[in-house]
Amino acid sequence: MNLIKSIVDNHDDLMSWRQHLHQNPEIAYEEKDTSDFVAAKLESFGIEVHRGFGGTGLVGVIQGNKSGNKAVGLRADMDALPMPEQTNLPYASQRDGRMHACGHDGHTTMLLGAAQHLAATRDFPGTVYVIFQPAEEGGNAGARSMINDGLFEKFKMDSVWGMHNWPGLEVGRAVAHAGAAMAGADIFILTIDGKGGHAAMPQQSKDPVVAAGMTIMALQTLISRRLDPFDQAVISLTRLDAGSAYNVIPSTATIGGTLRTMKSEIRDQMLAEIEEVASQAASTLGCTVSMELRPGYPPTVNHTADALFARDVIGDVLGDNGVDTSLTPVMGAEDFSFMLQQKAGAYIWLGAGTGSEFLHSPHFDFNDDLLPIGASLWVKLVQAKLT
Ligand SMILES: [Zn+2]
Ligand SMILES: [Zn+2]
Repeated sequence: MNLIKSIVDNHDDLMSWRQHLHQNPEIAYEEKDTSDFVAAKLESFGIEVHRGFGGTGLVGVIQGNKSGNKAVGLRADMDALPMPEQTNLPYASQRDGRMHACGHDGHTTMLLGAAQHLAATRDFPGTVYVIFQPAEEGGNAGARSMINDGLFEKFKMDSVWGMHNWPGLEVGRAVAHAGAAMAGADIFILTIDGKGGHAAMPQQSKDPVVAAGMTIMALQTLISRRLDPFDQAVISLTRLDAGSAYNVIPSTATIGGTLRTMKSEIRDQMLAEIEEVASQAASTLGCTVSMELRPGYPPTVNHTADALFARDVIGDVLGDNGVDTSLTPVMGAEDFSFMLQQKAGAYIWLGAGTGSEFLHSPHFDFNDDLLPIGASLWVKLVQAKLT
């Protein structure tokens, strides 16, 4: 591996920062101590800090010594999950029901390590913005909150980059998908309105329960019959509710579910077709359907040229074998998608090893071996991008 020496020499410090954050996890929009910790570190490196983006989010501005007006944004997430930790580590969470089970403690530390090196050297033209965002988990969209607070207006950047540790992929390897990396996730609720009545006299009712059954079966044909076989989507109907008595036909029934898609066009198509097909299926019973959409994160789609650029950087740092092109995208979702909707860039998965627990396990711990790897990747990406 072609890591940066000053960062490798600083591995012990990076580990102590990471373990401090691990011990003090804070969940979405409550990352006050974490934000203070990051701000203090950035200021100690001589970096100008801007706070209050998306609540606890903050941005460090690192101006290069050479003349140039290009700018890149590097983004890390800071939040933990609302779950109890079961690792028994000496630095396990000291906060009840809070745990860094997704490795955002590591992401924050890797970006701090890169920021320290970039601020000490400043041997690049242009500007690096280090973005520490709140609330990636749980649909809370901290990335969108930072954008809404003027992130991209106040800090003009040409591209933005994200990185996530990835258990199951060997340490020393990384992925930059040329296209979709993570799915979009939406919740939809279909309310079927009919006409209630006596269970023994169905001719006087418009039965929403039977309509719900026909709707459920009809929706199964969307993925198999209406979606291009080379596209991907998942529709899972996960909630069903109707009725209050055994001898009464109810007047309404509801069906709830989740839609996962990899492309915005497919998402729009599927949402329209869910409503259309449900309405048609229910209409055979004389019922009507209304759909409530609870939008989640859009798909995380890398810009192809930037993904290929990231692969070059990965190859430079980790060697040719370090570039993994075999891992398929996953149907999980990620709010970095909001940033990639507005800016060029890519989202990188960094191999965290094959032996560890997966993300969100109560036994998960970020692999500290990644700290100098991820920080070096950030610095090399800046050096390659700002020339
Ligand atoms: Zn997570
Ligand atoms: Zn995560």
